Amino acid sequence: MTLLAHNLLDACATAILAVSPHDLRIVSANQASALLLGYAQHDLMGRPIQDIETGLQEHFFWEDVRNGGNTHISQLETDYRHAQGYFLSVCKSVRSTVWEDQTLCVISFYDISQSKRIERESALTASLLYATLESTADGIVVTDLDGHIRHCNAAMMQIWQWSDTRQSEALFEWIKPQLSHAEEFQHWLDLLYSDPYLESQFAAHLLDGRFYDFNSQAQRLGEAPEGRIFSVHDTTAIKCSEAALRIAHQKAQAASRAKSEFLSHMSHELRTPLNAILGFAQLIYIDTDNPQRQLGNYIINAGRHLLDMINEVLDLASIEAGKLTVRHETIDLTPIVRDCCELMQNLATEKNTQLFIDLPPNCCWVEGDARRIKQILLNFTSNAIKYNRPAGRVTISISQTQNNNWRLMVSDTGLGISQTDQAQLFMAFSRVGEQQEEIEGTGIGLAFTRKLAQLMQGTVGVKSQLDIGSDFWVDFPAVTPAAHQSSSGSASTEAKQRHILYIEDDLLSQKLMSRILEQQRAHYTLALASTAAAGLLLAQQQIPDLILLDRHLPDATGASLLVQLRMNETTRHIPVIALSGDALAEDIHQAIQLGFDAYLTKPLDIAKALPIIDNALGYTHQGI
Ligand code: ADP
Repeated sequence: MTLLAHNLLDACATAILAVSPHDLRIVSANQASALLLGYAQHDLMGRPIQDIETGLQEHFFWEDVRNGGNTHISQLETDYRHAQGYFLSVCKSVRSTVWEDQTLCVISFYDISQSKRIERESALTASLLYATLESTADGIVVTDLDGHIRHCNAAMMQIWQWSDTRQSEALFEWIKPQLSHAEEFQHWLDLLYSDPYLESQFAAHLLDGRFYDFNSQAQRLGEAPEGRIFSVHDTTAIKCSEAALRIAHQKAQAASRAKSEFLSHMSHELRTPLNAILGFAQLIYIDTDNPQRQLGNYIINAGRHLLDMINEVLDLASIEAGKLTVRHETIDLTPIVRDCCELMQNLATEKNTQLFIDLPPNCCWVEGDARRIKQILLNFTSNAIKYNRPAGRVTISISQTQNNNWRLMVSDTGLGISQTDQAQLFMAFSRVGEQQEEIEGTGIGLAFTRKLAQLMQGTVGVKSQLDIGSDFWVDFPAVTPAAHQSSSGSASTEAKQRHILYIEDDLLSQKLMSRILEQQRAHYTLALASTAAAGLLLAQQQIPDLILLDRHLPDATGASLLVQLRMNETTRHIPVIALSGDALAEDIHQAIQLGFDAYLTKPLDIAKALPIIDNALGYTHQGI
């Protein structure tokens, strides 16, 4: 071979080997081939080609060549053995040529290991992607930019019972009749295919009751959109439990409404007859000349006990129904303790118990509802007196705890409560210990007390030792008051002639009011009406100074009569006090909102009701 020919072959980037067809040995190898195969150029010379080409296919080819057969191969991918023993992927072509009267087989080849590796990697990625798509329970479909389906996983086909993969573009058409809102779905698809970058969701409801969420986003290559991917997720279970929850919530609301209506009704029904019992008993007792006075007092005590029980049951039921609201005002605990001590003094004397108070010198400010805190304290104190031993002691104290709470505590020297019984104390209707048989009670007080305290961010607690006594307490976070106002005030009663109209259908309640005014306010005259229509007529004719109005009349509600009174020019200025057996805080609040000037509950507490009536008569109402 000439020097020029050598130089030309060596300059060539393609690897070239020349093989003699007679003995199948390499007669020429350029630099590129030596480099690729890991040999020195001279090492390749004279080497049998089978050292490089080891495959069976090659073996038969070269045998064929030696026997004067085919010498032509074009672009065949095969493996060559490297000098170090490993195999190299190459693409080779073989041609025969004649050089200086000698026939030679010329092999040209190049390394394709790199592209083979890339090919394998992308095959791996594709198989990984395929396995992932097929392993999910979500339906997945990939389309081109025109909506033709490129891939659809098995889950998708199963969801929609779709098997006809050949008509790939028909999938969405197949889905539509299964939806309860096919038109909206089509509109959503139109939107998606009009904007290749749009990401959007569609909640599908199927006619067979199933729910699926469609999610679609662009498939991009770099920034350019290539197609669309849809994933379809089964939300039937979630939707069903949401619906079940909604129904349960609606049922609970209906039950709670029914419960509060029942409470309000019960309250009214029980209070109306008690109004007559307690009212007349009070009149008998007030009359100092009446020889039956003491009997009146018995009726009052028993009636009040019954009223307390009704109130407790209703209070507990309304707190459980979430109907009881408390005020959140900055209040001082010390006057509450003094009030409570005063109120409990009679009971303490009756039970031969000594009552003490132990208060810090300064105010003890907390945030809460004074009336409700007093209720808690009265319950603790009455229990401490009730469940005490003869000649026992009860102390009401206020102290500051380590975590800056004010602790309102009632300690007694009673028989105490065992550890096991203490665990049940704050549960409704649980009465413990041996004394419960003899001592009157309902077992509601402490349960109500705890719930009440919770409404004001308070915590109740108990510590007791058998035969030594018990401590019951409630803790409220201490606060710093912004400003404090004293709310005491009393209406002065002047003996002026006044006329009252009482609109009430219950005859006993009418009689009771007549007797109260006869005995206690002889200078007030009273007119009576049993229906709303008669009441309105009398109000227009007589223009009374005050109207007492029952909230439930046979022909109208008190509220609607109030509206009529306020709309009428001659009656709109007359103050109107609601008088009703509905004693829930919510009822009272509603009535005041409606425009009643005050609210009196049945059974009437005469001592409290009269000042309110006096007060209403002492000013002229401006109307609404
Ligand atoms: P009631 O006093 O109406 O039964 P409570 O809920 O106020 O209801 O009290 C529940 C029970 O706790 C009482 O029946 C009584 O057994 C027990 N108890 C409450 N306070 C005391 C106390 N200071 N000493 C002993 N036992 C008490």
